[in-house]
Amino acid sequence: MTQIVNIPAWQVELSQAINKLDELLAVLELDPKQLNATWQATTSFPLRVPRGFVARMRKGDATDPLLRQVLPLADELQLTPGFSRDPLQEKQSNPLAGLIHKYHGRVLLTAVGTCSINCRYCFRRHFPYSANNPGKAGWDKVIEYIAADSSIKEVILSGGDPLVANDDYLQALCQKIAAISHVTTLRIHSRMPIVLPARITDSLVTMLKSLSLNLVVVTHCNHANEVDSTVESALAKLKTAGITLLNQAVLLKGINDKAEVLVALSERLFKQGVLPYYLHVLDKVQGTAHFEVEVNTALTLMKALQEKLPGYLEPKLVREEPGQPHKVLVK
Ligand code: SF4
Repeated sequence: MTQIVNIPAWQVELSQAINKLDELLAVLELDPKQLNATWQATTSFPLRVPRGFVARMRKGDATDPLLRQVLPLADELQLTPGFSRDPLQEKQSNPLAGLIHKYHGRVLLTAVGTCSINCRYCFRRHFPYSANNPGKAGWDKVIEYIAADSSIKEVILSGGDPLVANDDYLQALCQKIAAISHVTTLRIHSRMPIVLPARITDSLVTMLKSLSLNLVVVTHCNHANEVDSTVESALAKLKTAGITLLNQAVLLKGINDKAEVLVALSERLFKQGVLPYYLHVLDKVQGTAHFEVEVNTALTLMKALQEKLPGYLEPKLVREEPGQPHKVLVK
């Protein structure tokens, strides 16, 4: 028998993520005939969901808000006017493979081209990750680009999900970033503390703490049900290490488009030391129109949040607009 040695538990869990629709529905005791789900939607954007995240879904409930985020539906195959493959036109801000430079003072690195979960509403579901994998020589060019522009104070590791990378890869990249004297802040955008919390290992946290940089981790959590005791432990490790924790969510029809759901999300995250940061209106990516919430509905929700939450627990309602020098407040 082959023995698996020295593979971190989180990587084993990642490799065992559910990627077959039949299996997902069987685990959740759902009858495929009751659903509009289809494997055909997974040919261009595969199904992927960690088992620990599935364990937080309600069995027998086709409307479960966690399930709806990952369930491939026939609606994805509809072509919707006004929706496109690259609504943010990120190609225009992609001077080097692996680097997106849209906003003053910060750059974003697509450090890894995959995620531990595939969210069906993903704004980068059609992003050309394979063309954006710079390889070792390419990363050196990215580092040279940052080093040559002293206006860049912050580097954002994104993806995909940067924490899918192993510790050695991350350490090498982070140390090169930390060695650039004008870079003061490293921000990591990751859904892994929420969907695969075992990724937040002591060794990862120790490595991050060793960097002489301000550290910010922006989680991505859309519903309070996503937070269980395993997520609490992961967030506590990051918090104890002195890392600033923020959350961004996407406003999604049928998932979190109710005031009480958004209030519960902010309160649940704050209990774990995470402040709400952005609530994104959906980027108009082809295949995601069924998640769209009308702007008027979104504004009504924000008014309700204002009445029910202290200001520091209200996320900013934003959208990205191509060519704008910052995210745009929706009001
Ligand atoms: S974690 Fe983020 S980048 Fe990855 S699939 Fe979900 S929304 Fe897209």
